Amino acid sequence: MNLLLHMCCGPCSCYPVKKLRQEGIEPVGYFFNPNIHPYKEWDMRLKTAREFAAKVDMKMYDDDNYRLRDFLRRALAAEAVENGRCRMCYTWRLEETARFAAEQGFDAFTSTLFYSIYQQHELMKETAEHFAKLYGVEFYYEDFRPGWQEGIDISQELELYRQPYCGCIFSEEERYSRAIRKARKKANKAKKRARLEAEQMGINS
Ligand code: SF4
Repeated sequence: MNLLLHMCCGPCSCYPVKKLRQEGIEPVGYFFNPNIHPYKEWDMRLKTAREFAAKVDMKMYDDDNYRLRDFLRRALAAEAVENGRCRMCYTWRLEETARFAAEQGFDAFTSTLFYSIYQQHELMKETAEHFAKLYGVEFYYEDFRPGWQEGIDISQELELYRQPYCGCIFSEEERYSRAIRKARKKANKAKKRARLEAEQMGINS
């Protein structure tokens, strides 16, 4: 199978590439990530993805346009609905991967996003299936999450740069802002309390 593998970054590619090769599939990488900011971080992740591809001898394409403004326009518009920003982000990257795969004559596509334990797996799966139909190219689905720790170990053996946040400047803020972390903790506590109260009422009624 001639498979295009969208690479969200170098470290997340380690396990999927190993697993695909074990299955007899030789993937070709594709770096398209307009969601990574600021510029130095995007550049570092692109360089790391190239470094990984060279170290494991995998062919790779990359889109080396930095698209901060375009991403911000889309993200701010999408934030009007709950979860809209991440939905837009998956949609953009998976659509572009499906489109590129079809254009380049690949049989199928997939993404290292399906390795991440932090991303919204089912939503991404539905999105990829939708674009597979739209562009007439197969979506090769595999849940790579069981290899999470193995992927980390490989990335450390290869001495790859490992990023501390998801990608966009919003996720960078969420990672480092004490105020956001505090508010999230409070909201989680309130949710837990509400759930316990509801359970309690269920028992007593
Ligand atoms: S948090 Fe991650 S998935 Fe969501 S919009 Fe930002 S980069 Fe994309």
